[in-house]
Amino acid sequence: HEDYSDVADEFYPEHEASDAGQDFTDHLDELPGKVALITGAASGIGKAAAIRFIENGAKVLLADVQDQLGKSIANDLGPNATYIHCNITNEQAISSAVDHAVAQYGRLDIMYNNAGIIGTLAPTILDLELEGFDRTMAINVHSMVAGIKHASRVMIPRQAGSIICTASATAILGGMAPHDYTVSKAAVVGLVKSTAAELNQYGIRVNCISPHAMPTPFGVNGLKKLSGINDEKIATEMIHDLWDFKGAKCEASDVAEAALFLASDDAKYISGHNLVVDAGFTCFKRLNFTP
Ligand code: NAD
Repeated sequence: HEDYSDVADEFYPEHEASDAGQDFTDHLDELPGKVALITGAASGIGKAAAIRFIENGAKVLLADVQDQLGKSIANDLGPNATYIHCNITNEQAISSAVDHAVAQYGRLDIMYNNAGIIGTLAPTILDLELEGFDRTMAINVHSMVAGIKHASRVMIPRQAGSIICTASATAILGGMAPHDYTVSKAAVVGLVKSTAAELNQYGIRVNCISPHAMPTPFGVNGLKKLSGINDEKIATEMIHDLWDFKGAKCEASDVAEAALFLASDDAKYISGHNLVVDAGFTCFKRLNFTP
C-alpha cells in the first residue's frame, strides 16, 4: 500500500499533535441531568432506550399502558426512573405526561415518541378497511403530532430540546408491511421534517429513527399474524433472516444507541434527520454476480 501520510503533513502539519491528550472517556456520560419522557417504555425499543438514557445520567419518565410491567421496570432502574400510565391514543394523556415530567423534574429535555401499533395487518389493498386505515393513522400519526406539540409547548420557553420519533424502515421501502402501517410511518418522517423546520428557531431538534424489523413483542406478534406461524422461536428466526448482515442481528439496543446519540449534545447540529438503523437493507440490493 502507498503511504499518503506526507499529504496530511503538508496540509495539516499539526494533525498528530491535535488529538494528543484528548479525553474520549467523557462520552460515557452523554445525558447528565437531562430529563426524558419515553412512550412505549415498558418493552422493546422504549425500554432499551430508558436503560441507556439512565446509564448516561438522565432522569426518565417511562410512559406506557402496561402498568404492572412498566412499574416493575422503573423500579428495577432505580431512583432516576418513574413510570406513568399514558395511552398515546389520547392527546390529553400525552399532554399530562409532559406536564408530569415538568412537575416532577422541572423541565423536559428529551421527548421520545416511540410507541406505535402494527395496524390492520390487512394483507392486500383489497382487504384494507378504511376505518382500520384511519385508526392506524390516528394512533401512529396523531400520537406523534401530539407528542411533538406538547413537548414543544414546554421546550419553546427554554429554547432547547431534542424530540425523537420512531418511524420504520418500512417508511422507505415498500412491500415490507401492510399499507396502513407503511403509510403511517412514512407520515412520521414527513412530520419530523415539517416540525424540525419550524422548531429550529427555538433550538429544538426533531429527528426520527427508522429501524429494521426486530423480534420485540411487536415484531414477533406482527410476523406471527401475517405469516400464520405460531411458534415464537421460528418467528424470531424469520425476523432475523429477513436481512443477513455478517456478525449482527437487529436488536432494540441498536435503536437505543441511535436514540442516545440523537438525544445527546453530540447531535447538536442534527435536525430533520431520519436515522435508518437497518444495516443497509434499504440502501442496496446485492446481485448474485459481480457487476
Ligand atoms: P414492543 O411491543 O416491544 O413495545 C411497544 C410498547 O408500546 C409496549 O410496551 C406497548 O405496551 C406500548 N404501547 C402500545 N400501544 C400503546 C398505547 N396506545 N399507548 C402507550 N403505549 C403503547 O415494540 P417495539 O418494537 O419496541 O415498538 C416500538 C416502536 O418501534 C413502534 O412505534 C413500532 O412501530 C416501531 N418499530 C418496530 C419495529 C420492530 O420490528 N419491532 C421495526 C420498526 C419500527
